[in-house]
Amino acid sequence: HAQKSFVNEPFTDFSQESNRRAQEAALEQVKNELGRTYPLIIGGKKIYSEQTFNSVNPGQPDQVVGTFVAATREQAEEAIQAATTTFEHWKRVPASERAGYLFAAADLMRQRRFLINAWMVYEVGKSWVEADVEAAEAIDFLEFYGREILRLADKQPITPFPGEENELVYIPLGVGAVIPPWNFPCAIMAGMTSAGFVSGNTIVLKPASTAPAIAYQFMQILEEVGLPAGVVNFLTGSGSTIGDALVDSPKVRFISFTGSREVGTRIYERASKVHPGQLWLKRSVLEMGGKDAIIVDESADIEDAATNIVSSAFGFQGQKCSAGSRAIIVEAVYDDILQRVVEKTKKLTMGDVTQQGTYMGAVVDANAKKKILEYIEIGKNEGKLVLGGGEQGPGYFIEPTIFADVDPQARIAREEIFGPVLAVMKAKDFDHALAIANNTEYGLTGSLYSTNREHIARAKEEYHVGNLYFNRKCTGALVGVHPFGGFNMSGTDSKAGGRDYLLLFTQAKAISEKK
Ligand code: NAP
Repeated sequence: HAQKSFVNEPFTDFSQESNRRAQEAALEQVKNELGRTYPLIIGGKKIYSEQTFNSVNPGQPDQVVGTFVAATREQAEEAIQAATTTFEHWKRVPASERAGYLFAAADLMRQRRFLINAWMVYEVGKSWVEADVEAAEAIDFLEFYGREILRLADKQPITPFPGEENELVYIPLGVGAVIPPWNFPCAIMAGMTSAGFVSGNTIVLKPASTAPAIAYQFMQILEEVGLPAGVVNFLTGSGSTIGDALVDSPKVRFISFTGSREVGTRIYERASKVHPGQLWLKRSVLEMGGKDAIIVDESADIEDAATNIVSSAFGFQGQKCSAGSRAIIVEAVYDDILQRVVEKTKKLTMGDVTQQGTYMGAVVDANAKKKILEYIEIGKNEGKLVLGGGEQGPGYFIEPTIFADVDPQARIAREEIFGPVLAVMKAKDFDHALAIANNTEYGLTGSLYSTNREHIARAKEEYHVGNLYFNRKCTGALVGVHPFGGFNMSGTDSKAGGRDYLLLFTQAKAISEKK
């Protein structure tokens, strides 16, 4: 693996009969595995409990995907202790060996690609294509971080000094609490976890409570490739019950979190407190929400812009931190684009995502559905509802919804809704559009559709987002190609899938010997 330079994993072409059949067979196989009971994994031991919760299919909530242990604070302590003990051994394992586990896991994921896709279809309501793209991203993270640790383990450039032999080495931090979101339950979960342990740290992985089954599949892969017990400990349970125990523990050295602004800022505050017996200042790597925009000016390819506004807004039901939930369009082309966006959105299919070609599934759970419907009600007073707004049951389905003529100060223009709701805004000109785009506390992704070089140059300077795109959608960052992370309340700009990322999970030691 390491000899070959990194390339992104290809996506599956489902128009090929063999791939379509393989995906259908995998969906059938996973369907037969639904409803099982899963343990915690602490120091390699599988621990079951009477206290459990269910992960369900959001499109069909009476279908239980899996039953998981609702861990207690005491079990969180045990997991941290197991990670602490294992760290003494794991930190001495050479980087090449640690990387080997990632490459082996990537291979297994490739072999199980259709099964992994199927778990995502059932557990979080991804379409075939969305699930498949995510599985590719998970493989990419493993291949990329495996190579990255080898690069960091190499001799680092340092200025020569007469009479001394100097070096700089990157050593691990210690025990990390890894707390991923449910919306990229495979890629982000596997990326955050593998970055942590390939850097020589040991991990307590607390998956999101709506997507633990996918995380368990990953744990199985790690076990199969022979990752030593205790390097990654699997702790399911509600973040509100065990989250603080993980974040507050004096034995935890770093917290790697991706999720909402609300929980991220809470972790940021709590992690800053030094508890009795704590020997370090905790590091927190926090990736949070977005209110991402697509700007279209009068020089743009209108048809292309409309197509990609729709896919950025409604892909995976708008439940991406990078989702283009705002379209900001200059007056001259506003009516034309709005009409095209509405027409294209009308053609999107919503329903059973186990069927090939269904574009949208349900939103993740009842809470998400309630929150999104509340925003739709708010939107009715803030803009003109031009499409959707309705819901369907018993699954958590919400129609793709478009509000036009939205005031840039409106709540639906500034707050993250995290669902299939698009706010369309009219700008007087490009300057005005840029000001509206920046009028948010977030700063994750943003697009500009334009052929005007002056506008493109201005946007490079002034569009304040961590991932800026021209003439393409604002979702779909690729590992290594578009290192991903945002500004302001979108987080610590940790640039997952980039060359700076593993530095966040290591500390540099400068060593000097007089000759
Ligand atoms: P969330 O509600 O903040 O949950 C994220 C994780 O935090 C879950 O594992 C959750 O556990 C846990 N958690 C909840 N309360 C906690 C506490 N008090 N202490 C510690 N952990 C706690 O976010 P989400 O709904 O899963 O994800 C959606 C959000 O993630 C959106 O805002 C989206 O924009 C953002 N996101 C950002 C990026 C990025 O790269 N910037 C990528 C993807 C998603 P439970 O599930 O048990 O509550």
